[in-house]
Amino acid sequence: MTDISDFLEESFTEHESCLLQPFLTNFDSSVFGLRNLPEVVKGALFSRYSRSEKSLRRILLEEFIKAPEASFARITGEVVNNNADQLVAIQQAEAFYERVLIGYGDDSVAELGGAHIACEGISNIAAKALEDSRLGISPLEKSTRYVLFNRKINGRYRYYREPSIMASSYAERYEKTLDCLFETYTALIDPLLSWIQAQIPKDKATSERAYYSATRAKTLDLLRGLLPMATLTNVGLFGNGRAFEYLLVKLAASPHQEVHMLGLAMQQELDKMIPSFVKRSKSDRGIQYANYLATNRQNTELLAQKLLTQCTPAPKSPVQLIEYDPDAEEKVVAAILYPHTDLTFEQVKEYVSNLSTQERINIISTYLGERGSRFHRPGRAFEETYYTFDLLADIGAYRDLHRHRALTQERQHYSVRHGYVVPAELKEANLAETYRNALDYAAETTELISKVLPDAAQYVVPFAYRVRWRIKLNLREIYHLVELRSSRQGHPSYRALAQEMYRQISAVHPVLVSKMHFVDLNEYALERLAAEQRIDTKMNQNN
Ligand SMILES: Cc1cc2nc3c(=O)[nH]c(=O)nc-3n(C[C@H](O)[C@H](O)[C@H](O)COP(=O)(O)OP(=O)(O)OC[C@H]3O[C@@H](n4cnc5c(N)ncnc54)[C@H](O)[C@@H]3O)c2cc1C
Repeated sequence: MTDISDFLEESFTEHESCLLQPFLTNFDSSVFGLRNLPEVVKGALFSRYSRSEKSLRRILLEEFIKAPEASFARITGEVVNNNADQLVAIQQAEAFYERVLIGYGDDSVAELGGAHIACEGISNIAAKALEDSRLGISPLEKSTRYVLFNRKINGRYRYYREPSIMASSYAERYEKTLDCLFETYTALIDPLLSWIQAQIPKDKATSERAYYSATRAKTLDLLRGLLPMATLTNVGLFGNGRAFEYLLVKLAASPHQEVHMLGLAMQQELDKMIPSFVKRSKSDRGIQYANYLATNRQNTELLAQKLLTQCTPAPKSPVQLIEYDPDAEEKVVAAILYPHTDLTFEQVKEYVSNLSTQERINIISTYLGERGSRFHRPGRAFEETYYTFDLLADIGAYRDLHRHRALTQERQHYSVRHGYVVPAELKEANLAETYRNALDYAAETTELISKVLPDAAQYVVPFAYRVRWRIKLNLREIYHLVELRSSRQGHPSYRALAQEMYRQISAVHPVLVSKMHFVDLNEYALERLAAEQRIDTKMNQNN
């Protein structure tokens, strides 16, 4: 590492060093971190990089700490000592930060500050709207596998009472249906857990803790199909300002009142943390953008309904590879060689087109080397080819796979028209009838409500019902998604989809997936058991 003194002409007096020290992770390296600074200050500081010859330390000192208009002492808490005062100080200095951020940066400046925001007690419709983000947002959500969803508050199950339904003549029916789903979920937990434990008794090598955790997770995995989209959950998001700005615009364009209100509530809280970075979502520009998105969606929906009324859905196929590139192998091999030559891509492709299959396999093998685990992922050459899949699976599986971000996904409405999935275990345990009854009742209610309130009716749909969605992803993401989602501890419904995606790609491009060693095609009785046993081993090592 270069010593800072090798290339920095500047030095700081003792007093200056004292002023800077609380905000830097070190004073003597060319690599250092910023700390104890509000997001706006960090963002504004970095934005100066593009227009200044000075080091960041010097900018911090001269243009922020010593500049009265930056209100630095107040913002960083030297003069004030609570968050509310800090917010007021930031707001008072807003003109200064606006000038720096707008004057010295472009749109990407809003990526220089981030925030953590918790959204609690939101429906799964809203959770999915938040998680539809890709670049710049990292979500974490309460799990239906580890957490029970039948807790009541003031004697009522925790699901979203959708306002337009509650104001309609369907209010009573809505509550009766959702109560029935939650009651069925509750009633099936104990008998199903007992049945699973009877089928897969604990062996001596497995601890009580690991066994109980694995069998309970299996029980909740099997019963999650009863949970309706109205089920309330908690989602935490970390994201940068630019990503939040776009998310807020998309939430404002949503047809769901809940999502709309959630966006307004998030704006209010983000305004307290990163106001300068999320300002535009509530400006005229943001409002116009949201209107643009909403209007175009509505018009396109009407057009699609008009154009496609005569068509009937094709037979149900859970995984359908609908598009792939016949020249994929050639392109990927050319992309592997390309960075190591000075030829054009076209020339490299021409060369590759004359190679034998074995020669291409050798090149791919060299590129992928010895993959020791699924974390040894292919490089960018594998982004050279894409696959499009049409998927039709239970909403539970959709909810999980939707969380992948390095791909294009688009979903149709949550509905009951494609029927539901009953896990084989429920049939074997003689619990399927109760399960079906609750789902059938939910379907009748959904259809009733959707005649007058089609968007709101989606809140009734339980996770067991199928939804159709389309994904387009490159081969690099295929390696990641298929190996992760087929792994033993995954939920059986998305494991089956990942395994089938692998089989269908293998059929057309066997060479390209020949090193996908970590796809797991086995079936397991207790998916979580091995993971729980590993936790036991770690706990024992720490004791
Ligand atoms: C068994 C299992 C249990 C799970 N349980 C939960 C749970 O309880 N709660 C929950 O919320 N989620 C859970 N998840 C979902 C998980 O947290 C991820 O959301 C999901 O796997 C998709 O994200 P990804 O990072 O794997 O891949 P993708 O989003 O497909 O991204 C591909 C790769 O790109 C990179 N990447 C993508 N985005 C970013 C980014 N913003 N920053 C840095 N790198 C990025 C990463 O290397 C990533 O692996 C679970 C997943 C599994 C497999």
